[in-house]
Amino acid sequence: MGALQHIARTAPNLPVPRLVPSGHGLDFHTIRFADGNDYNVYLLTYLDGVLLSDTDVGNDSSTWRRLGELIANVDKALRGYFHPAAIQQHPWNFETCLRLRHLVEHIENDEARSRVNQVFERMSNFVIPRLQSLRHQVIHQDAHTDNVLVDRDNTTRITGLIDFGDLLYGTLAAEIAVACDSIPYSRPDIVSPACEIVASFDSALSLEEEEVDLVFDLVCARSALTATIAAARLALTPDQPAHIQSPLPFVDRLRELQCVGQTEFTRRLRSACRFPVYCPKTADEALSGDEEARLVEARRSLMGRNTTHFYARPMHFERARGPWLYSTDGYRYLDCYNNVPQVGHCHPHVVRAIARQAAALNTNTRYLYSSALEYADRLTSKLAPHLSACIFVNSGSEANDVAWQIAKLITGNTGAVIMEDAYHGVTDVIRQFSPGRPETPLPAFLRGLIVPDPYRGPFREGNPEMVQKYAADADRAIAELEKSGHRVAAFMIDSALCSSGVPDVPDGYMQAVEKKIRAAGGLMICDEVQSGFGRMGQWWGHEHHGVRADIVTIGKPVGNGHPLGVVVTTQEYLNRFIDKTRLFSTFGGNTVACAAGNAVIDVIEQEDLIERSSTIGAYMRSEIAKLASTHAIIGNVRGHGMVTGLEFVTDRNERSPATTETARLVELMRRERVLVGSEGRDANVLKLRPSLIFAKEHVDVFVAALDRSLDAL
Ligand code: PMP
Repeated sequence: MGALQHIARTAPNLPVPRLVPSGHGLDFHTIRFADGNDYNVYLLTYLDGVLLSDTDVGNDSSTWRRLGELIANVDKALRGYFHPAAIQQHPWNFETCLRLRHLVEHIENDEARSRVNQVFERMSNFVIPRLQSLRHQVIHQDAHTDNVLVDRDNTTRITGLIDFGDLLYGTLAAEIAVACDSIPYSRPDIVSPACEIVASFDSALSLEEEEVDLVFDLVCARSALTATIAAARLALTPDQPAHIQSPLPFVDRLRELQCVGQTEFTRRLRSACRFPVYCPKTADEALSGDEEARLVEARRSLMGRNTTHFYARPMHFERARGPWLYSTDGYRYLDCYNNVPQVGHCHPHVVRAIARQAAALNTNTRYLYSSALEYADRLTSKLAPHLSACIFVNSGSEANDVAWQIAKLITGNTGAVIMEDAYHGVTDVIRQFSPGRPETPLPAFLRGLIVPDPYRGPFREGNPEMVQKYAADADRAIAELEKSGHRVAAFMIDSALCSSGVPDVPDGYMQAVEKKIRAAGGLMICDEVQSGFGRMGQWWGHEHHGVRADIVTIGKPVGNGHPLGVVVTTQEYLNRFIDKTRLFSTFGGNTVACAAGNAVIDVIEQEDLIERSSTIGAYMRSEIAKLASTHAIIGNVRGHGMVTGLEFVTDRNERSPATTETARLVELMRRERVLVGSEGRDANVLKLRPSLIFAKEHVDVFVAALDRSLDAL
């Protein structure tokens, strides 16, 4: 009665019975009946309809959808309700079902008995311990076909849920499992209706993955329990015919469910709720090779036969957390490569911010909203005072494209200087700024500089003129541009020089080049897509080099995986550019992207990740350097903060690149369950860019794996 009163307050429109107070305003009366006993009597409203069990149940999938939605709404309405009597040990309570285990002996058929026993075994060892860590609340737990009413004329329309007598304190997974038990035994396909129930429940009341993952076991348990209770009644109370039925149909149902199997059933439920589908938690649950082959083939036909992937055999991930990626082979892999998840994969604060904003509003910068302004304000406060205005786009490439347009507009010039093996993105023009390899011919408006690499470049450490010699290449580039009619508009530079293999750029080099560029009339476009946001142990890579940026471009790590690109420049440049172009990007800086951006800054500040990037990165390089005494292939270890280049050579004197060995090492590290990648003109540099949340323990895992892989080379 308390529960019904509670629902009447929290969800007055739900089709469940209502308690009618007596003329005296009481909920119930105690009345002496003719048999001499006192009974509590109460009055409920009548719900019109016929029992679902009296119809041609569920031929229409909308019945199952409506059932899922109804039980979710009932549970939602019951969330704030509790009564000590709800902690019940009644026979249908999954969490106390082991009390019935001794009754299994009444199932006479050996095969059936053994099958039911196995379910009890799994409940005991696996399911019940997990149920205990799931959300609990008072639930209806009896929404089967005899308690669900439907419209007489339209039997897919549910008109009510009755019988609150089995209410108990349990899990939402249990609620769903009982509803799934309504799916008629005669149906050839049990899984599709179950998917409808679960997905519609999830739409009304969000489920957690662990809850979805236990539904199969609970549906099996429900059949096993029903079979057990039926067998016990047959054996112990044969004189009560109303309750007598054979246990065997329930065992048949169990057999059918087991034919579908936990993996397939759960895969379908997960897919219906849009949870990641493949989610093996141990190597025993690894996805089969057939499935992997199917995905590879689908990828070839849907995404092109030459779409690149890492590793000879592609890796398959469906989930990640912090520094770990979880592969469908059932193992976790330490991610030392990917620099997009700057604050760790799927950081809960960022994930929540995205989800909450997506649930509230997702619109564009042509409207006024606070999150974009908050974000722009916070972002610019991290940069030098003159960099105070933002243009929002969706990617690093777009940011660089816009930056290039601004530079041309402001200077009136048309030439650009880049590194000879730079990478800046994929738009038509920016693809030309991304030759990748030094020997790639460049268009007349672009010149590439020799990479200032003191380890294997033309001028090496120890050479007192190294900085001037490298910087002098900018004079050559500027002169060549002018000769072909292009004065310099900008020098576009990735401060980490990632695509060049993270060389240890000598102090003073960037400033010397900046001076030459400015003297020739060009601006500095500092591409912070790789080097920004604490990657180099401080907020911005260009600050590490001591140069003044006119335009900063930001991408990849800013949204921790959510698409967001930003161009930051001066008020004057931005106003002149927007006045001329009226540039607007539909998704750029939308409310959700800005929520992601704000959350990433929150995490960096709250977890002190800039400082951590600096100390953990230094620790990583010092630990790697220790391996150099036992592994002659290690030529050079360098970097700043959490970007490290580890260069391999076949001969330390000759500094000849160990290209094939590096490729083998990447595969060997995979075997060690550590992800790394190679880079540089000879692909002999390991490019290491772990997330800034890395701790010493993660570095230790990496270094031990590297040591073993080098041994195995
Ligand atoms: N600039 C640099 C330095 C990059 O490394 C990248 C991508 N790796 C980009 C720009 C392009 O970013 P996006 O792929 O988001 O367009």
